[in-house]
Amino acid sequence: TLPLQAANQTIAVETPQQQQQESIESQIQSLLAQMSTQEKIGQLALRDWGTFGASDMKAIKQAVREGRVGGFLNVNFSSVDKHAFAELQRLAVEESPLGIPLLFGQDVIHGYETIFPIPLGQAASWNPELIKNGARIAAQEASADGIRWTFAPMIDISRDPRWGRIAETLGEDPLLTSVLGVAMVEGFQTDNLGDPTSLAACGKHFAGYGAAEGGRDYNSAYIPERLLRDIYLPPFKAGIDAGMQSIMSTYSTLNDVPGTGSPFLFKQILRDEWGFDGFVVSDWNAVMEMVPHGFARDGKHAATLAANAGIDMEMHTDTYEQFLPQLMDEGKFSEAQLDTAVANILRVKLRLDLWSHPYPRAQSKAEREQIIRNGQFLNAAKEAAKETFVLLKNDKQLLPLKKGQTVAVIGPLAEAPHEQLGTWIYNGDKQHSRTLLPALRDMVGDGGEILYAAGLDYSRDTSTRGFKAAIKAAKKADVVLFVGGEEAILSGEGHSRGDIRLPGAQAELVAELAKTGKPLAMVLLAGRPLQLDETLEQADAVMMAWHPGTMAGPALADVLYGESSPSGRLPLTWPVGAGQIPIYYNHLATGRPATEDNYTRIEKIGREVFQHQPGNSSNLLDYGHKPLFPFGYGLTYSEFEYRDLELSGPTLDANGQLTISATITNTGKTTATETAQLYVRDLVGSVSRPVRELKGFERITLNPGESQRVQFTLTPEQLAFHNADMQPVVEPGEFRVWIAPDAESGLESAFSLR
Ligand code: BGC
Repeated sequence: TLPLQAANQTIAVETPQQQQQESIESQIQSLLAQMSTQEKIGQLALRDWGTFGASDMKAIKQAVREGRVGGFLNVNFSSVDKHAFAELQRLAVEESPLGIPLLFGQDVIHGYETIFPIPLGQAASWNPELIKNGARIAAQEASADGIRWTFAPMIDISRDPRWGRIAETLGEDPLLTSVLGVAMVEGFQTDNLGDPTSLAACGKHFAGYGAAEGGRDYNSAYIPERLLRDIYLPPFKAGIDAGMQSIMSTYSTLNDVPGTGSPFLFKQILRDEWGFDGFVVSDWNAVMEMVPHGFARDGKHAATLAANAGIDMEMHTDTYEQFLPQLMDEGKFSEAQLDTAVANILRVKLRLDLWSHPYPRAQSKAEREQIIRNGQFLNAAKEAAKETFVLLKNDKQLLPLKKGQTVAVIGPLAEAPHEQLGTWIYNGDKQHSRTLLPALRDMVGDGGEILYAAGLDYSRDTSTRGFKAAIKAAKKADVVLFVGGEEAILSGEGHSRGDIRLPGAQAELVAELAKTGKPLAMVLLAGRPLQLDETLEQADAVMMAWHPGTMAGPALADVLYGESSPSGRLPLTWPVGAGQIPIYYNHLATGRPATEDNYTRIEKIGREVFQHQPGNSSNLLDYGHKPLFPFGYGLTYSEFEYRDLELSGPTLDANGQLTISATITNTGKTTATETAQLYVRDLVGSVSRPVRELKGFERITLNPGESQRVQFTLTPEQLAFHNADMQPVVEPGEFRVWIAPDAESGLESAFSLR
C-alpha cells in the first residue's frame, strides 16, 4: 500500500499487484459460490489417461464435461490424439458447468523439445542466468502446446550418487540448490504469470525424497528435524519466497510418516510457518501408496489422511472423487477445508490467466515450427551445455585438442543420439540430437583426421568383440578420445545403481587403449559421478559432460578444441567409490580430524593391505576418507591464483556485516571463467557445525594476465542455523572463512561474531 498525502490526510492507494490479488480472491469466492460439491472435488483431480483405464476417450471427455477434472498430466498426444489438448480444453471451457479451464501439467525438466543438459549438469555451471534462460526456453516451447505447469524444479538435496534421480537434482548444497532453483522458477514463471508463455513451477518433492536410504529409489528417509530445516528445506523456502506456485509431495516416508500424509510438512511448515498460498499436488499415485506404506488401511483412509494433511490436488488416483463426499458426510473432512483446497488451485489458474489463454499458444503447425527448436533455442542449448562440462584432470595439457592431430574417437557414447539426452525427456527426440562425431569433423575440417571405432555398442556392453578395431584406430592416431559413461536409462526415476563403476567392459577397453601409449582423453556422459578406479590414472585428461542434451556434439567439439575453456564446477562431492557414500563436503568433523599426521599410520596399513595408494590420509583402508574430487572442483584450460584475502574487520555484530575480498589472477594463457566460492566454518556451536558451508559464489571471466577482486558480504542471518530446539539462531563466536576454488582449499582467515 502506497501512502498518498492529500489535504492533511493519508489515503491508502492499492498497488496494481494488490488490486490483482484482491480481484483474484473475489473471483475465487464467486466461483466457489456457484460450484457444486462434485465440481469442487473435480478441481482437485489431476488425471492422466491411466486413471481412465484403457485410455477411454469417451469417459475422459465425459468427466471433463461434467467438471470432474481439474487438469491433466503428461498427455501424450502422439499416442492418443494430436488434438487432445485443444479438444479437452474446449469441452472444459465451453461445455463444463462453470467453464473453468483445465490446467495441463508435464514433466518439463530440462527442456521440452530443445533438450538442455540434465539438471545436475546445469547445476555444474553454477550459473543462475543460464538456468533461468533454459527454463524460459522450455516454457516458451511447452506453452506452444498448451502446457502451463511444469513439475520442476526438483530441489531435493541428495548426498547419494547411487540414487538415480540425483541426475535430476541441483546437487548437494542448500545454497547452490536454492539459488539455481529460484533461477529455474523465474525462468518458467517470468515475473508475470499471466503471460501466455509462462509455466507455473512446482518444487518437488516435499520433503526428504533425496535421502532415500541406500540410494534405493522410493526408500524410507530418516532426517533429523534439525538437518531437515538446515539442509533439505531451504531450497523450498527460497522457491516459495520467489513466488513458486505449487509444491509436490514426496511419495516416500520421512521419519516413518509418508510425506503425502504429513500435516507437519504441509500444514505446519508450508502454510503456517512459510505462508505458502499456491497449491500442493500429490506425487503420482502417492495417495494410494500410503496403503503399502502401512499408513492407510485403504483408499478411503488414504484420502482422509492426504486431504487432512493439506494435499490439495490428487495426481493420477481418484480417491478424492470416490471418498471425499462420504468423508464430508461423516464429518471427517469439512466443506471449509474443501473450499480452501479448491481456492488454492483456482488462485494459480487465475494467476496464469487461463481464462484468457486456455488453448495451445501455437495455433497452427507453421506457428509451432517457428517456436519449437528454433535456431536461437538450439544455440542457447549449445552454449548452456558448454558451461556444464567439468574438467577433472588435464595432464600435460592434453586438452584442448590441436587441429592438425589425428584423433581416434572410441567408446559407446560418441554416437548415441538418445543417450546424450538423459532422463525425463517426454518430448525430446533423438532424431534432433546433434552428436559428437559429425561435430568433430566439422570442427577440424580438412585440418585433421577423425577416426571412429566405438569398441562397445552401448555403455553396458560386456563383449570385447569391438576392441581390436578400436585399438587399431588408437594406434593410428595422435590422440585417443574415449567417450563413455552411462546410458540415459542408468539414471533417473527408479534407475538407481549400487555399483557406480563404469558399466560393461568400458574400464577394460580404457585399459587396453592406455597400453597403446597414446595420449588418452576421456569424456564421460553420465547422470551421476562414477567410480573411476584405475581409469583415472590411465587417462591423461578427464572431462565430465553429464548428459548434455540435444546439442551435445557441437558443444563438446567447441570445448574439446578450445573454442572456449571448460568452466563447470562439481555441484556435489565425487566419491572414490560407492563404499564412501554418503559423502558430502558440509559434514561434521569427527573426533579424530583427518589431518595428515593422524592418518599416516593408517594410510601405511592401507598401502600394505591393499598394495595400492589409497591416495589420501584415511581411516577407511580401501577408499580413503576424502573424496576423489571435492564439491566445487573443476579445472579450466588456464590457471588462477588467489591472493590478498582481506576482511573489512575482525568482527561483525548483530546489525553489522562483513566484507571478504580477494584478488584472483588468470596466470595461464587462455581466457577462462573461475568460480570463486565463499565458505564459512562456525568453530563452536550449541550443536556441532559443519566443517565448511558455502555462503556465496561468483563467476568471473578473465583474460590471461588479468586480475579482478571478488568481494562477498556476510550478514549475521547467513550464519544462522537451527539449534536443538529447532529455533533459527545466530550464535556469537569464532568463525573461519575461505575464498576458495573448491571445498577443500582456498585462502583462509578468521573473524568473530559478537
Ligand atoms: C515423479 C514426479 C513426476 C510425476 C509425474 C512421478 O513418478 O516422482 O517427479 O513429476 O511422476 O510424471
